[in-house]
Amino acid sequence: MTQQIGVVPVGEVPALVLKVIAANITACYRCPAVVLPKRPVPESAFDDRRNQYDAGIIIEQLGAWNFPACSKIVGVTSLDIFIPIFNYAYGYAVQGGDLSMISLFRLNRNADGSLPPPSLFYERAAKVALHELGHLFSLFHCHEPQCIMHFSGAITDLDQIPFYLCPDCERRLTP
Ligand SMILES: [Zn+2]
Ligand SMILES: [Zn+2]
Repeated sequence: MTQQIGVVPVGEVPALVLKVIAANITACYRCPAVVLPKRPVPESAFDDRRNQYDAGIIIEQLGAWNFPACSKIVGVTSLDIFIPIFNYAYGYAVQGGDLSMISLFRLNRNADGSLPPPSLFYERAAKVALHELGHLFSLFHCHEPQCIMHFSGAITDLDQIPFYLCPDCERRLTP
């Protein structure tokens, strides 16, 4: 079966960043990625105490929308998302599943609060998407710092990791 990855904007997301994400997915996983039409942000995902959006609820909604042409989905939002046990998240994926999402919200600030150049913002977005997709392809976090599956808890970590899988993860990646 030919796999196709769907990149789905949830709410307002700049077109260029979606294209950059899709192009990097196609290159890294040798699997075509397409940008799909924008979907609305599910209102029920908003948590007014945290002033953030629940990644799990957005993921559920992605599942309910159903994208028959795509075997795996990466949702992309500009909003700040959270997973209950963490303060914030760059992305979230169902391990070994079909659905993942990423948030651009925290990628457009450096650790010292300064603005990154646009190219760095695009790189970060692509890396988070490649990482979450790795989880969908059943990869776990990797100890190798030169691997896209190395865990990034902070923006400086994300800037250190490369755009590719280490040889071990590459081998584990089952077609
Ligand atoms: Zn991860
Ligand atoms: Zn690795």
